[in-house]
Amino acid sequence: MSVANDPVKRRRRIIILGSTGSIGTSALKVARDIPDRMEVVGLAACRSVAALAEQAREFGVRHVAVSGGAAAVEELRGLLPADSTVFGGEEGLVKLVRETEADMVLIAIVGTAGLRPALAAIEAGCDLAIASKEILVMAGEAVMEAARRKGVAVLPVDSEHNAIFQCLEGRAPSEVSRLILTASGGPFRTWSNDRIAAATLAQALKHPTWEMGRKITIDSATLFNKGLEMIEARWLFDVPMERVEVVVHPQSIVHSMVEFIDGSVLAQMSHSDMCFPIQYAVTWPQRVRNTLRPLDFAALGRLEFEAPRRADFPALDLAVEAGTTGGTLPAVYNAANETAVAAFIDGRTRFPGIWRAVARTMEAHRSIAHAGLDEILAADAWARREAERWLEKPLAAV
Ligand code: NDP
Repeated sequence: MSVANDPVKRRRRIIILGSTGSIGTSALKVARDIPDRMEVVGLAACRSVAALAEQAREFGVRHVAVSGGAAAVEELRGLLPADSTVFGGEEGLVKLVRETEADMVLIAIVGTAGLRPALAAIEAGCDLAIASKEILVMAGEAVMEAARRKGVAVLPVDSEHNAIFQCLEGRAPSEVSRLILTASGGPFRTWSNDRIAAATLAQALKHPTWEMGRKITIDSATLFNKGLEMIEARWLFDVPMERVEVVVHPQSIVHSMVEFIDGSVLAQMSHSDMCFPIQYAVTWPQRVRNTLRPLDFAALGRLEFEAPRRADFPALDLAVEAGTTGGTLPAVYNAANETAVAAFIDGRTRFPGIWRAVARTMEAHRSIAHAGLDEILAADAWARREAERWLEKPLAAV
């Protein structure tokens, strides 16, 4: 049963998709910290077979999926007790969700592979805790509509959206004037344009405040991460793009804010540790004691805010365009960025090539309004090909 319909249920049975990653391992830390509120009943990863088997053993999980090919499935079977069920391939993620008794599915997979399992979770009547922003960016309209129809909750795990979710509680949408997403500004916040143009992979991977997976760390350096979050907020909270704003806050203590029509602003704060938003998604609508480090304001000293450099970090304006146009354009924004980030990691494009590849791909796209899942997935595939075509140009031309 949906947590939304059963708020007094204390111990929630949770499936974690992407359990070996940065969010997944934080979720397991939360499970160790509040075992009377969180029971892990399903785990999934792609290639990290040994780590996945270790997690399954530690939490006594019998339903596991691995999408990294037949050899990974065989290897995993060999490492788990004989009564375990191991699902394989991308379809295995959907089967894991359908065939495991759970209250909530945490989607913490990079990229778009979490979309079908997310829809399967809604169909199965499970609440969704969503870390993978790509899902709401690509198919926010469809996912939120399916969740409303089925009466399941969609709980944001991304720290900014979790903050907004906490600030909004009990408030009517008509009382809200602006959602204000905070951004750390990434490692290049104070760099000149010339230095940014020559930025290396190692420099882009040095995030000033958060420790995260590689893809999202690069996205934090380009500000595509914030662009994706603007579109995500638009769908999660059903507000038009012009009411979603970004302010740079280098300390990453205020995770986001809501301004109400009377001019008051509520902010949510904590240290930058994903265990905070993950726990809130799991225990919502209740709050539960934990062992996480509390804030010491006197030690923090100061909290700073500044306007983002929109002209130098075009990911934000491209997000406004994608979120305002809607249809298939957000999927194109997301897919072209994923392709360009992979090219940057492989040394096939320079850092500004990421922005350019996305801008060119968006320019070449004809968006389809109110797109269905098939159209969204087709736009995603087209954008990857189109961005790749552009990225194939010699490095010097980029
Ligand atoms: P990581 O790269 O650290 O982890 C990704 C996880 O997904 C791994 O467990 C990986 O398995 C698994 N995975 C990848 N592809 C598949 C697939 N096709 N099938 C099954 N499992 C798969 O990423 P993060 O944890 O950093 O990010 C996860 C998502 O959460 C992203 O969408 C990101 O944008 C979002 N997010 C992350 C935050 C963070 O602090 N890290 C903050 C807010 C949002 P394997 O280990 O086997 O490769």
